[in-house]
Amino acid sequence: MKTIIEPFRIKVVEPIRMTTPEERASLLAEAGYNVFLLRSEDVLLDLLTDSGTSAMSAEQWAGIMRGDESYAGSPSYYRFEEAVKEVFGFEQVIPTHQGRAAERILFETLCGPGDLVPSNTHFDTTRANVEAVGAQAVDLLVPEGLLPAEPHPFKGNLDVDRLRELLEEEGVDRVPLVMLTLTNNSGGGQPVSMANIREVSQLCRSHGIPLYMDACRFAENSYLIRLREEGYSDRPVAEIAREIFSYADGCTMSAKKDGLANIGGFVATNDAELARKQRNILILTEGFPTYGGLAGRDLEAIAIGLREVLDEDYLEYRLASVRYLGERIAAGGVPIVQPPGGHAVYIDAAAFLPHIPPLELPGQTVVTELYIEGGIRGVEVGTVMFGRRDPKTGEERPAPMELVRLALPRRVYTQSHVDFMVEAILDFADRKESVGGDRFTYQEEVLRHFTARFEPLD
Ligand SMILES: *Cc1c(COP(=O)(O)O)cnc(C)c1O
Repeated sequence: MKTIIEPFRIKVVEPIRMTTPEERASLLAEAGYNVFLLRSEDVLLDLLTDSGTSAMSAEQWAGIMRGDESYAGSPSYYRFEEAVKEVFGFEQVIPTHQGRAAERILFETLCGPGDLVPSNTHFDTTRANVEAVGAQAVDLLVPEGLLPAEPHPFKGNLDVDRLRELLEEEGVDRVPLVMLTLTNNSGGGQPVSMANIREVSQLCRSHGIPLYMDACRFAENSYLIRLREEGYSDRPVAEIAREIFSYADGCTMSAKKDGLANIGGFVATNDAELARKQRNILILTEGFPTYGGLAGRDLEAIAIGLREVLDEDYLEYRLASVRYLGERIAAGGVPIVQPPGGHAVYIDAAAFLPHIPPLELPGQTVVTELYIEGGIRGVEVGTVMFGRRDPKTGEERPAPMELVRLALPRRVYTQSHVDFMVEAILDFADRKESVGGDRFTYQEEVLRHFTARFEPLD
């Protein structure tokens, strides 16, 4: 059989409230043209994020009932710890309420003012947490990662030559850790190859610098290694994942992604002394080390999710549905980041709407138009999210790329939902010349995309 099916049946359903384009146009205006400010009942197909939006399995719901809510020493914690050790192989496991709490604890214990933290590309919360301790987040993506139309199997790779240069020019002492984001979320959901992970690890180890993985989508990255990298086509995905983490000193994780859970995260390391310091910070703001800001039931859901996410039938379906969406809209003439990544399809808004310059926010226009057209909620990953405004002069600097991310929640939408997405996107493509750009009417200094308000330009 050629057809790949969803490897699950549906036991519980959530109705979708149908709306018309006219209703959506007025809901959007009320929300200041920021789709983060819409109510989710007003969205038909929510591709805002794959974070915390997974459908849990019957096993996970059973785990929820088994959750033990003891303050200290809960068996749910020990099941969680065992799953993390089995899948990732790190000695010290510290639960947190989500990924960004793990990041804050990691950077607070490893970095200080003036430090540099290189990565392939820092995710927005990662960058913000590096900057919050006075350090500087440095993105060293390979050049092909910035060429949306260029098909390359591992566009998430870190540019090892530039890392070597940075260590020589800035001094090893200024670099307390290196990070790799698997897959590279902000750069198009593109995977990092095992060869690149190995090379970055060797360079870090030769200088005694710890390497940490931002492991949010480790299973998707592992499966893409299996599909695309020589020597891995018949290796079990769980084994590929273990090899990845064997090259690292620790990781941060958002269980809301490849944990198949609705909340949760952790920081893990092999450094017992570092973990001791991290647990002290944890107690201050997250909770006791055997729950870390989570309910026992959440720990159970994560422990089960971390194993389910490595199921190869699941991963085959997951990657196939993302690829299907990407290939169908690309075939209809919509420029996307090629090839489609692990969790999302990224429309190249700069190439799609060439009549709208970056500072008139073409990605924001694509996002609002897809909502009006088909009730689809995507997210801008361009100048709104990553551009910078000079606080003194008010001058705007555009981001390197103008992308729109359509992230597919895990195990949530079916093939006909994806067909509907394709139709709506192609219908908008037919009238794209008629739309103009947008401008900010309100913005905050930090993570402005969440709260900004906009106005369409004529
Ligand atoms: C989501 C995400 C995070 C942050 O995790 P939260 O659980 O949302 O706090 C960090 N890095 C990457 C790559 C992510 O996708």
